Amino acid sequence: MFSVISNMYSPYSCVVGHLVSGAWNCIIQPIFLDKAISGSEKFNLTTFEDKELDGFLEAEEIRTDIKLISGPGYVSTGCNLLSFIPAQIMTLQIEDKEADRFVMKHELSHIKNNDQVFMHLIGLTTCVAIAILSTRLTSKKIISFPLTLIIPSIAQILYMRYREAKADDFAISQATDEELKGAFRFFSATNNATQDHKFALDISHPSILSRLEKVNKVLEAKGISYSPDDTQEDFDKWSHMCDKIVEGQEEGSAIKNLQRLFSKLKERLRKKD
Ligand SMILES: [Zn+2]
Repeated sequence: MFSVISNMYSPYSCVVGHLVSGAWNCIIQPIFLDKAISGSEKFNLTTFEDKELDGFLEAEEIRTDIKLISGPGYVSTGCNLLSFIPAQIMTLQIEDKEADRFVMKHELSHIKNNDQVFMHLIGLTTCVAIAILSTRLTSKKIISFPLTLIIPSIAQILYMRYREAKADDFAISQATDEELKGAFRFFSATNNATQDHKFALDISHPSILSRLEKVNKVLEAKGISYSPDDTQEDFDKWSHMCDKIVEGQEEGSAIKNLQRLFSKLKERLRKKD
């Protein structure tokens, strides 16, 4: 028993952890994501009502077999590199076409650049390197284990922050003026929603305020001074988005997921009786 516990704290168990989480995020989750969300709508990106994205995918050499599913937020899974694995984008159903298209371009950038695969490769290679180095330098697991656990995670977070900023840059460079205004509404609404809900701590993305500022600078450079309350129509889109983002955060929160799991279990037990 002691040897099992002692082996669990071997730096090499961290390597196994990275292999498992990489397989989960890059292979298993993309295959089963849509099945994990109950009542989700599923449609193909190429048959998406937004025809303007069709030519965009071709021009940017992004795979066209991406499935869209509606969910509590925006998440992309899958990549261009491993095209035999399904690629999916979860979208929050907002009534703001321009904002939605901007965020879609951000998510498509992750798929185009295979960000998820590279993030896991960086975690895995850093983990192997630290495991080998730390076990050579010391035989004490109390030192080598935490090092192998923490350093690769920091490397992954730094990489993702960098890639998130790059995905924003890509979406900005590909956005029309109206989509930039949509991006402004989206970041501003997200900023509003996260101010009310402190649980939204996210260190893998640049801060919402810095992202809002980045979009604003591009708009200003184009000679556009913009605020969501410039017109009633934009204000309505913005306030609807605020509600949707708060709803999505509550819907996707860990507590809500646990509640759903318990109610499913209860239902199953009741059926057995
Ligand atoms: Zn992203």
